[in-house]
Amino acid sequence: MKKLQLTTKILIGLIAGIVVGLLLGGSPEIAVEYIKPFGDLFLRLIKMIIVPLVLSSLVVGAASMGDVSKLGRIGGKTIAYYLVTTAIAVVIGLILGNVINPGAGLSIPVDANVQAAETPKIANTLLNIIPDNALSALVSANMLQTIAFALFLGIGITLVGEKGKPFLNFFESMAEVMYKIVAIIMSYAPIGVFALITPVVAQNGPAVLLPLAKVIIAVYLGCALHAIIVYSGAVKIFAKMNPMTFFKGAAPASVVAFTTCSSSGTLPVTIKSARDNLGVPESIGSFVLPLGATINMDGTALYQGVCALFVAQVYGLELSIAQQLTIILTATLASIGTAGVPGAGFVMLTMVLTAVGLPLEGSALVGGIDRVLDMARTCINVTGDMAGSVVIAASEGELRDPKELEEAKGA
Ligand code: ASP
Repeated sequence: MKKLQLTTKILIGLIAGIVVGLLLGGSPEIAVEYIKPFGDLFLRLIKMIIVPLVLSSLVVGAASMGDVSKLGRIGGKTIAYYLVTTAIAVVIGLILGNVINPGAGLSIPVDANVQAAETPKIANTLLNIIPDNALSALVSANMLQTIAFALFLGIGITLVGEKGKPFLNFFESMAEVMYKIVAIIMSYAPIGVFALITPVVAQNGPAVLLPLAKVIIAVYLGCALHAIIVYSGAVKIFAKMNPMTFFKGAAPASVVAFTTCSSSGTLPVTIKSARDNLGVPESIGSFVLPLGATINMDGTALYQGVCALFVAQVYGLELSIAQQLTIILTATLASIGTAGVPGAGFVMLTMVLTAVGLPLEGSALVGGIDRVLDMARTCINVTGDMAGSVVIAASEGELRDPKELEEAKGA
């Protein structure tokens, strides 16, 4: 019951933050100066725990799989699931962009000097997954490299057998300690969430948002539809989980993502929510979730679809079906390349615009409201990772019943 209370408290923190933010709209400095530091403290606390948590839980996860082929199978399924859901997200974004037509009748002066993000070379991207120095991967919190190193450690432990046991015990103990620290940090979440959202609302009052209200509506509505259709459908069909149970269990991470605008920064909360509320075993969550926080960005892809159409509409350019298909492809790839940090999707938007020959300056149109769009897309990115972990766990027959979990805890 305690967990539910925490979720409720976090939601109250969110709503209170929005209300106070609106009240402080006239003098946002107060919110920035006196309230924001409490939010930054929360952010630092969760970021502090990311690398040791992911490393230890993933080593344990990989070592407990027992064989390397299972790891490969889960990896393949996970990537396929993430790609398909991301492509669906772009399609939803494009449909809403066409229906809501957010750029119609709008002419906004543009005076920005925008540089296109470079399309990354595939060979380099793949090579980059392997760190050339394992410790520097950890120190710089490079998530894909940390995942790669942890997988090797886990596989090594499995292959060594008896002599690897003490090493595994160390990581098992470390993972438990890290989970405990996350629980401690989470007790501060309601205040953290409150203090993160207040300055954002105070700074982005109605005056900032109204001119672009249709873009905001398209992105928020798109995100809501994607969650309701794709995530509800996926957990219901593949995991026989009641969608309400899913969204309730996912809520702490979804709200923290909404306020922090960082999938990576939310990761400890994501792992904890999936494990404790959704019944995803560590062996799967510790792999599927960090991978998702790095490459699975449904909200970002959806936003890029909406924004590409918006820019085309503002400039009076008609996008052909072929161009819209190109958007599906590039937005899916761009979202994979998007780092799970605030504002990263905005930078990658330039890549999508370039791919279909749209004016880059167009991205400046939505730059002013990026934070508000970032909240929705990050929330969906993270919720999508958790849906993925539930689906993959169920496909391996390893999903635990959250109700049983609850009872076992209460007992
Ligand atoms: N902030 C997003 C995330 O961390 C990425 C983006 O900017 O779209 O998931």
